[in-house]
Amino acid sequence: MCGIFGYVGTRTAEPILIEGLRTLEYRGYDSAGIFVPGYGAVKAVGPIDNLAQKITDTISGTSGIAHTRWATHGAPTEVNAHPHADMSGTVWLVHNGIIENYRELREALRAQGMNFESETDTEVLAKLIGSFNHGSLEEAVRTALKMVRGTYGLAVLSERNPEQIIVARMGSPIVLGVGRDGHFVSSDASALLAHTKDVVYLDD
Ligand code: GLU
Repeated sequence: MCGIFGYVGTRTAEPILIEGLRTLEYRGYDSAGIFVPGYGAVKAVGPIDNLAQKITDTISGTSGIAHTRWATHGAPTEVNAHPHADMSGTVWLVHNGIIENYRELREALRAQGMNFESETDTEVLAKLIGSFNHGSLEEAVRTALKMVRGTYGLAVLSERNPEQIIVARMGSPIVLGVGRDGHFVSSDASALLAHTKDVVYLDD
């Protein structure tokens, strides 16, 4: 299980996300990525510096999610790095943990005509959430998670509602940071310390 960092607020998200990932580096990881609504996802294998160097444009969005991956399902490649998207390409997800029943869920989604780019259990969860996203993303996440066996800390963000990050956990930590010009989510409270001391630990 590796690192999650997310921000939603009034500041430019991209530098906050990259710095957030750097505070999680000590945990070890093989690849990293970010998603910012209005821009899209950027992913890279290897150190956070590789990811930072790939970001040559100005990314102006004020929310985003970021991940350092320690591969459990699928090789440490750029395609397998998080965030992963649903079929519409609008809902993006970062995930720590393991979806144990991902194979059967993937078969059911393939039968509905969905294709998978990566070898990860996480992409299955992203597409499962997307399959229920008919209005309320929060409800879609709830419905999808009822079908999942395994462990997860996750953060979900949609192009359609960039001011809302949906988070959930089961057996993998998620901590919220309440800030003055925005709110934060991380898998590790130490990553929030630079921003706020007002933290909320989620229960499973
Ligand atoms: N099981 C997921 C994957 O292999 C998440 C790994 C992690 O916790 O970093 O992509």
